[in-house]
Amino acid sequence: MASRANQHVWLRAGLLCAAALLCLASTASLAAGAQASQPTVASAYPVASDVRIAGDDKQTRFILDLDRRIDVRAFALADPYRIILDVPQVSFQLASGTGQTGRGLIKAFRYGLVMPGGSRIVFDLTGPARIEKAFVLDAANGQPSRLIVELAATDKAGFKQALAADGTPALRPALDERTGTTGAVVADAAGGDHGAEAPDSRPVIVIDPGHGGIDNGTMAPSGEAEKTLVLDFAMALRAQIEKTGKYRVVMTRSDDTFIPLGDRVKVARNAKAALFVSIHADALPRGEGDAQGATIYTLSDKASDAEAERLAESENKADAIAGVNLTEEPTDVADILIDLAQRETRTFSNRFARLLAGEMKSVARMHKHPLKSAGFKVLKAPDVPSVLVEIGYVSNKDDLQHLVSDSWRTRTVGSVGQAIEAFFGKRVVSSGSEH
Ligand code: ZN
Repeated sequence: MASRANQHVWLRAGLLCAAALLCLASTASLAAGAQASQPTVASAYPVASDVRIAGDDKQTRFILDLDRRIDVRAFALADPYRIILDVPQVSFQLASGTGQTGRGLIKAFRYGLVMPGGSRIVFDLTGPARIEKAFVLDAANGQPSRLIVELAATDKAGFKQALAADGTPALRPALDERTGTTGAVVADAAGGDHGAEAPDSRPVIVIDPGHGGIDNGTMAPSGEAEKTLVLDFAMALRAQIEKTGKYRVVMTRSDDTFIPLGDRVKVARNAKAALFVSIHADALPRGEGDAQGATIYTLSDKASDAEAERLAESENKADAIAGVNLTEEPTDVADILIDLAQRETRTFSNRFARLLAGEMKSVARMHKHPLKSAGFKVLKAPDVPSVLVEIGYVSNKDDLQHLVSDSWRTRTVGSVGQAIEAFFGKRVVSSGSEH
């Protein structure tokens, strides 16, 4: 299913909007396409209906049309150069492809939910730029409310200076708190000892649908977003696992929200999870040939091959895509964690990966090298066996057909369930503890 935000009108049309007729045409088609499905939900949040970028590589102005006034907080981030706009939850009803190309200082931009109640717009910059103004105009003289951001080119030193003057642009407090909230879901499991008299001693399985919210992940040429495909798969997997009554399932996300990579790991650790399964759907960049089938990844310091390395690199970019301040992360901790990762955890991860490959190959097409390893951030819990499954390539026609098919999903989710049964084997007794 194509994302709601993705009706097809080029940003270019927006830029040419001075010609009033064109503007009317694009707005009309937007309204027709975007609104059809959920008119009531849309009206609960401020609606962003159009976007324009004007200017050049010295000065650039970004304008977002809104149906009401909202608050905005704008700040810059380095490595890579980005401008982040934090706003309340907004219903983005913009043309498909909006933001893929920018203008002037804005190379491209993304928008979407980063948490319930909070949306974010992230500009990728062509170089260092400073925020001259960021404000919202009331509707007036027949014009809608508008969010306006003005950027001016600066140099590396100027960018750094502005950052320093701004204070460290921390993550929104709410984004930090959300970690706690996510953890709270599983707090009851975190307190007790392993097993014995704990109220619910069933093993916890954390299912981690990749991406979400502002981070779409990969996109099929026909518009399907990885974040949606993997959420569908993960929800089906949860149902499959819960059916057995033997395990407790915790989701890192169960809706279209962005979750930072580190938070996903925290969910697994807080839950004292016995298994962490991250679900993704890869794509080969255009012009790099075709690949198909599912691949199962485990953590390693050194990638098993070039493709695994490319993939880990691109998956690890999720936080940058969503405007998380990477310089705030204690990056070397991750490496220490790898060192500390107990051999046992790795052994379990590898064992599950092999079981999974064995089960999946009977129902789903596998990649020609289905077991690989690389430095995925999301697999770095030192004490939780973790695998990342690329369930297929959205860039491959046949794979995509499977990924959107209910019967394929049911079969494949069933095979993952089988692998889980085999993995926990005799450790888990089906009767007694339930109901
Ligand atoms: Zn992914």
